[in-house]
Amino acid sequence: MIIILFGAPGVGKGTQASLLARKLGIAHLSTGDAFRTAIQNQTEVGKIAQSYVDEGSLVPDNIVASIVEEAMQGPAYRNGCILDGFPRNRGQVDALNSILVGRGLRVDKVINLEVDNETIIKRLLGRGRNDDSADVIEHRLNIYRHETEPLLEYYSQNGNLITVDGVGDIAEINRRILEAIDDHSD
Ligand code: AMP
Repeated sequence: MIIILFGAPGVGKGTQASLLARKLGIAHLSTGDAFRTAIQNQTEVGKIAQSYVDEGSLVPDNIVASIVEEAMQGPAYRNGCILDGFPRNRGQVDALNSILVGRGLRVDKVINLEVDNETIIKRLLGRGRNDDSADVIEHRLNIYRHETEPLLEYYSQNGNLITVDGVGDIAEINRRILEAIDDHSD
């Protein structure tokens, strides 16, 4: 099963994706985590990604797509995965579709976690990551609104989009997501 966890920075995608991965027994692929690890280890990808991540811009699509494609070849991904932070623009949707088509897979569910702007900013400022300063947060949210949020239209037309209220307690939100997945299973 391929699930996309969708939503603005700070809606809780990472937390929910790792809970879901454990409960559903499938892999969790966070492109943000992949870049942070690559930067820490100063790999070739890390060196390229660093400036983009620091300023809150999107890393170029070809690099993101190659990270996702490579990860998906691993044995841990045999039962599918939860994509957290990917795709983030139309080019990445196309890249994902071609990765999946090549393996006879498709996106099964897109869970859109919805959180109001004020709560998002409060959560991000409280998180204390390097790219969580006020100006970088503003830039990341702008990119989300302009490039990522419009993908909701695409996924709603493809019939597998489910919007879940992302405000509240972590366990409760997780329950809502699991319920939404069950209700919409084919
Ligand atoms: P995240 O942890 O998902 O908030 O991602 C942190 C940073 O990693 C983003 O601000 C981007 O610089 C980079 N990044 C993560 N995922 C992607 C992606 N799908 N496309 C481009 N850049 C990404």
